[in-house]
Amino acid sequence: MKTVLIIGAGGVANVVVHKCAQDKNLFSKIVLASRTVSKCNAIAADVKKRTGVEVETRQIDADNVPELVNLIRKVQPDLVMNIALPYQDLHIMDACLEYGVDYLDTANYEPPETAKFEYKWQWAYQDKFKNKGIKALLGSGFDPGVTNVFTAYIKKHLLDEITELDIIDANAGDHGLPFATNFNPEINIREVTAPARHWENNSWIETPALSNKRAFDFPQIGEKNIYLMYHEELESLVKHFPEIKVARFWMTFSDNYLNHLQVLQNVGMTSIEPIIYEGREIIPIQFLRAVLPDPASLGARTKGKTCIGCVAKGKKDGQTKTVYVYQICDHEECYKEVGSQAISYTTGVPAMVGAKMLLEGKWNGAGVFNMEQFDPDPFLAELGQWGLPWEVKEL
Ligand code: NDP
Repeated sequence: MKTVLIIGAGGVANVVVHKCAQDKNLFSKIVLASRTVSKCNAIAADVKKRTGVEVETRQIDADNVPELVNLIRKVQPDLVMNIALPYQDLHIMDACLEYGVDYLDTANYEPPETAKFEYKWQWAYQDKFKNKGIKALLGSGFDPGVTNVFTAYIKKHLLDEITELDIIDANAGDHGLPFATNFNPEINIREVTAPARHWENNSWIETPALSNKRAFDFPQIGEKNIYLMYHEELESLVKHFPEIKVARFWMTFSDNYLNHLQVLQNVGMTSIEPIIYEGREIIPIQFLRAVLPDPASLGARTKGKTCIGCVAKGKKDGQTKTVYVYQICDHEECYKEVGSQAISYTTGVPAMVGAKMLLEGKWNGAGVFNMEQFDPDPFLAELGQWGLPWEVKEL
């Protein structure tokens, strides 16, 4: 019987709330708070219709730490789940520290004025969380999140040593719109247009964004072009598995997505530098976000599948071996179950399973943790049961 405070009411939060409500014995009280309370109310009404569970809703500006502490004090949660944006991470961690409650998020902190994600800001909270006797679980989504757990599983069960790791993320879904992003447009475009970075022989190698492409044959989806990118889990994985010599992250993009992105970049619409428009300051990428489709609205029209997984090469009993651990998710089935597309679903389910690990005491300790630091087995035992069955294949 636990109380959770969920912050944020976008596409991912919709899935998290539905999934928590499906396990009402554990998540006996759910409070959903966000900047726009009408979005919380809409999620609560849908959850009530589908599961019969009552979700309490509140308005909150999660960048205002005293307001947050006040809300946490009133709700007295066992866990605060940050499903808002990476910009809120440190503010919500500060509020959790002040009150003394565990924290979970799905994406690492990114300062609004620099498109650069690094764990250094959140890892700097290690001693404060430890001294307070509470824990922060960072990146409990799919990637980061399940990909970290897959890597820990490979190391525990499939390979004695991992030398090369490729995390490969395919969204072969089609929403039928000329251009839309499948999660928050600002965060998505900042991520895709940042220079690519991968780990090779103890250093980071930077290459221009989207300049390195390969073909990969995905199970159930077929061959797609994948592009080298930077993704935050690479940083924690090479820290926690220092034996890894090469670590890369790849993502599929359609030619249509890339053409639109190129044009938007060429005309300056993806810039995060403020400009003056009709006497007031605006940030082009924030204006662009306002005119692009809301990712939460794509669920009803998206068809096709996602496939996200880890290809790891290394040694088992002295023999070289390559294994592939992956998960396939169907957009239409997700929509039928919770009213969201698969990108939100594949992020929201691991957030709920991560919360279960903390609330049931299966993942214990005090301090700031990445997912691969815990035992992968109890997490992966639940993941399939809550909607994301996964597979292992030797390549
Ligand atoms: P959305 O933009 O759909 O939702 C974000 C929500 O946060 C909105 O409801 C927004 O409020 C709310 N919010 C923003 N700022 C504040 C604030 N200051 N105070 C209170 N609420 C605020 O994003 P998504 O649901 O697509 O993504 C949610 C998170 O999941 C992001 O951090 C994203 O990076 C992460 N993610 C992680 C993935 C993974 O695999 N690890 C994959 C995909 C996403 P309002 O409605 O008023 O705008």
